[in-house]
Amino acid sequence: MLTLDDLLRQITDPSGREIFDPATGATVGRAPMGSTADVDSAVARARLAQVAWAARTDEDRADLLVRAAAAVESAAEPLAELLTREQGKPLNGANARFEVAGSVAWLRATAGTALPDETVFDDGVIHAQLNYRPIGVVGAIGPWNWPMMITVWQIAPALRMGNSVVVKPSEYTPLSVLALVKIINGVLPEDVLVPITGNGEVGSRLARHADVGKIMFTGSTATGRNVIHDSADSVKRLTLELGGNDAGIVLPDVDPSAVANEIFWGAFINAGQTCAALKRLYVHDDVYEAVCTELIRVAKETPMGNGLEEASLLGPVQNRRQFDKVRSLVDSARAAGARVLVGGNPDLEAPGNFYPVTLVADVDNDNPLVSEEQFGPALPIVRYRHLDDAIEMANALDVGLGASVWGSDVDAARRVAARLEAGTVWINAHGSVHPMIPFGGIKQSGYGLEFGVEGLKSVSVPQVISARH
Ligand code: NDP
Repeated sequence: MLTLDDLLRQITDPSGREIFDPATGATVGRAPMGSTADVDSAVARARLAQVAWAARTDEDRADLLVRAAAAVESAAEPLAELLTREQGKPLNGANARFEVAGSVAWLRATAGTALPDETVFDDGVIHAQLNYRPIGVVGAIGPWNWPMMITVWQIAPALRMGNSVVVKPSEYTPLSVLALVKIINGVLPEDVLVPITGNGEVGSRLARHADVGKIMFTGSTATGRNVIHDSADSVKRLTLELGGNDAGIVLPDVDPSAVANEIFWGAFINAGQTCAALKRLYVHDDVYEAVCTELIRVAKETPMGNGLEEASLLGPVQNRRQFDKVRSLVDSARAAGARVLVGGNPDLEAPGNFYPVTLVADVDNDNPLVSEEQFGPALPIVRYRHLDDAIEMANALDVGLGASVWGSDVDAARRVAARLEAGTVWINAHGSVHPMIPFGGIKQSGYGLEFGVEGLKSVSVPQVISARH
């Protein structure tokens, strides 16, 4: 049985950078610090390996992804433990074990999804076929909130389509990704999947590299813009999953006790550190107090603590920078007259980055807690009277990843959903994703779709072969 210590021994570098547990401040391990020179050698290796990888049959690549899924599954417990220690998310709930299981599920689903060549035209004279070819080397740059799952979202379709991949994890959570890649590489041919570590400069070098044909990037909108600039000279293909500030609109016909749990977890999954989490809630005046009361109830019932404790369902904020951001947004909302219903009072002397679940009512729509992405455990709840106003407020920002509508009449909710500017609108749910349902943002939340057949198309290049009969 592989243990966490075995895993750490395989991936840590004794002279590397210390990685700290956000729950305790203790050292988890030491991550190698890569350089821009390492990017160049990683890309060169991946480029060489890609030729043989692309020459394999599609079935062969799919089979290797299935075997990779089995390998990750058999190392699930130490991987989950590492994720808890490095990222902070608890083992239980929709957290570390869930993330590892999701990584397995996405590897399997990607193996099971095909993108066959299509005949797009045939009039008896001309036969035109659309084939999906590999791009070559794909660069995968990821964030620290769902490090393993997002890595799989980026690498699995790219590998399936015959690309090789160079992966650069966030500096905050490199060990989780290095461990995952180590396990997957136990079944893949050498250099088809090459990890590199390092800071933004390393990511930037990957985005600029002339031999990288595509970047799959998940992170902030600011860094996404840098990736666009860096990749322009080589006219790279890009999939950008950037920041969001998802709105939820609660209609007056809602049953507050029926939706409170879903709204709560839509907002507080992974302590709010989720791209498509519910980040601002617009509630009709008729049900405003009832919805607040129900959310307070769920918040008080939900245990937060060290993620290694089986009872914990909420963990710390992953890093101090993000903790300070959440704290300052809540403090300024309170100073502006908003009503803190629960939370908002972190113990600054205690170890770890624990910020309590915080609900903030009677907050103005132009308050920074509403208009900026908090990316942490604090939810602003804005009151509205007219639906048109709620829709206008929801659409007012320059991001559009997800949104949700909550109400008893699903047809009425659908009509509201159609007016919202977001890549996905959920009804009576928020943030749920599925390997066969395309996912992506609009506006400054990015472009390109992941998952399912659309996800495979985005890591390939279309080629038309047009032949005379
Ligand atoms: P960042 O944008 O800071 O970092 C993302 C990744 O980009 C990291 O690996 C980072 O490396 C790397 N990077 C930094 N600078 C550059 C550069 N110039 N060129 C290339 N790569 C670079 O995001 P965070 O990790 O802080 O994640 C939080 C943000 O990401 C939130 O705003 C959130 O909304 C968004 N996000 C969006 C998701 C989505 O699907 N839309 C999902 C998850 C998060 P390093 O860490 O080493 O600096």
